[in-house]
Amino acid sequence: MIKKNVLYVKNLNKIYYKNRSKTIHALKNLNLEVKEGEIFGLLGPNGAGKSTFINILAGTSVKSSGEIDVWGFNLDKNPRQVRASIGVVPQEINVDPFFSPRKLLELQAGLYGVKKKDRITDTILELVSLKNQANSYSRSLSGGMKRRLLVAKALVHQPPIVILDEPTAGVDVELRKKLWESVKSLNKQGVTIILTTHYLLEAEEICDRIGILNNGNLVALDSTENLLKKIQTKIVTFLLNGKVNIFDKSLNSLNIIYNSADKLIVSYERSKLHINELIDFINKQKIKISDISTEDADLEDVFVRLTKN
Ligand code: ADP
Ligand code: MG
Repeated sequence: MIKKNVLYVKNLNKIYYKNRSKTIHALKNLNLEVKEGEIFGLLGPNGAGKSTFINILAGTSVKSSGEIDVWGFNLDKNPRQVRASIGVVPQEINVDPFFSPRKLLELQAGLYGVKKKDRITDTILELVSLKNQANSYSRSLSGGMKRRLLVAKALVHQPPIVILDEPTAGVDVELRKKLWESVKSLNKQGVTIILTTHYLLEAEEICDRIGILNNGNLVALDSTENLLKKIQTKIVTFLLNGKVNIFDKSLNSLNIIYNSADKLIVSYERSKLHINELIDFINKQKIKISDISTEDADLEDVFVRLTKN
């Protein structure tokens, strides 16, 4: 089934003007699409531009140039419909300490014009596991609970797209798990999720597709599966007493990085080739191997390589 795109971003730029002489180009010609029903992760180090992107979608920051369509609505022409289509969970925790979660959700629903009979406060509280705290002061909630309350607030108008900016920053492991469960169960109900994170493993665990942002540039955009395939790549260095003649098609997925009279560096896919086949191949040419070292490329490597300045 071909899924339609629910978010289009075309040539998006954001320039902050600090003062007359200093500007920050926080988003540089960003192009991306998000498909209906997927969990899309925007990954990048601090300062990459993730929040800037989210804030533009949320309407709390104004883009410098470019086009954005959300749920079929153009951000410039139909900002209200765009706002109604998304629920945004901001990076900063800002919950009023003197209201209970239930009260806060009711207030938020009022703000969005959701009629009393259409409110789903209890369902939402259940979804984010805050039913037991529904009537407590919000100030008595733990950090993780507050974070989940922010998620709940973003859901009162039942938006088809939920956007979370660094949802697990400062949240402990146990609560992080709970938060992911909430996000996953939302997604199972058909909600498209867009989240930002600077934790690689997190993105890897939960996202269908990942965009890597660095210094305002989108340096990678692919399915998590494809990004992980790069992890399958093994890099091996052989120290030798002769140059290997390597014109052989039998060595599946082999890629020669360096080949000299005393050193051979290759990469290959772990699933397609075993190191023993390589060793046999070299031995057959009567070349002696004096040392072998291997290294795994992993998503961390891919990330570091892509985000190196
Ligand atoms: P991230 O969320 O990926 O950490 P941000 O979008 O917050 O990144 O920031 C991207 C860049 O824009 C940073 O250099 C940051 O200092 C700058 N920036 C963010 N918000 C503002 C602002 N309101 N005014 C000026 N510069 C800003
Ligand atoms: Mg941020």
